[in-house]
Amino acid sequence: MKTLMLKADQTDQAAKIIKNGGLVAIPTETVYGLAADALNGKAVAKIFEAKGRPMDNPLIVHIADVSQVDRLVSEFPPKAQKLARTFWPGPLTIILPKSEIIPDEVSAGLDTVAIRLPLHKTARELIAKSSPLAAPSANLSGSPSPTNARHVAQDMNGRIDAIIEGGECEVGVESTVITLATDPPRLLRPGGITVEQLREVIGEVEIDDAVLHPLAKGQKAASPGMKYKHYSPKANVILLRGNSGLFADYINARRTENAVVLCYTEDLGFLKLPCIPMGKSNDYAQHAHKLFASLRIADDGGFATVYAHCPGTKGEELAVYNRIIRAAGFEVVDLEK
Ligand code: AMP
Ligand code: MG
Repeated sequence: MKTLMLKADQTDQAAKIIKNGGLVAIPTETVYGLAADALNGKAVAKIFEAKGRPMDNPLIVHIADVSQVDRLVSEFPPKAQKLARTFWPGPLTIILPKSEIIPDEVSAGLDTVAIRLPLHKTARELIAKSSPLAAPSANLSGSPSPTNARHVAQDMNGRIDAIIEGGECEVGVESTVITLATDPPRLLRPGGITVEQLREVIGEVEIDDAVLHPLAKGQKAASPGMKYKHYSPKANVILLRGNSGLFADYINARRTENAVVLCYTEDLGFLKLPCIPMGKSNDYAQHAHKLFASLRIADDGGFATVYAHCPGTKGEELAVYNRIIRAAGFEVVDLEK
């Protein structure tokens, strides 16, 4: 299959492909999505094939206006409406009991559906011209999510109908996922909207075990995506916890290795291995923005090992922690010891 490259103003052409049951990669403010008509089960099935995604991992349905929610769900409770009013359009996905028009391919057999209203203008324009779009990240299953059209082409060229070129994704990590199908509501995946922000609006929000910890053998995942090895570059990722002096000592003792360091701006000049700067140590939004692109740079450079600071687990840091701890197989080297 030849994959068309479309400009951001070619949403008419993209809408035609979607209506004909095809696949189009689209820019959003989180990461690039691989979109199909969410109400066409056959089209949605092609997403799983193109990505090599396990069929039991459900997809997020993207809408262009809050008025589209009612058709997709059997219930839109007040707390969900409050979240939608506060954080949409934006990087928040809300899980609700689904209506019967949601194909099984979208919800992977669950009785719930995940819904998001993205901020990105091109994404919303395309949805308005076609249909609600089922769209996971536009990478091959298991590799880092794409944050520009070039990353998408690396993984998807020849496998999908078209890619819309829409520049760099602003947030850089996937949306925050919260389920309102449980009481209290539960955070299933951290992202650009923090759990602290969610609690300010609706009160109690639990954090699902799988956000911070590996699933125990046989434990069922509330969010099926969490059980798969995700966000992994080919390189071995090693996380280091400790102050900048200890970090530099550890790195510099390994200066002959085929390794690269995801470092803070403040580390630059002190490290004797190649570095990929992630922004200032306290610029958490920038760390998220650069994370996946940096892991791809590491792989493109053929490095065997990636060393990185271990992020904290509060506020904005949780989103990066959740991704990078998986890439590191949940292991952290404690430099204080
Ligand atoms: P992705 O599409 O790759 O950004 O991943 C979407 C994430 O949302 C995955 O972790 C899914 O398992 C999760 N998800 C989507 N729909 C549901 C649902 N109905 N219930 C629980 N988790 C869901
Ligand atoms: Mg994904």
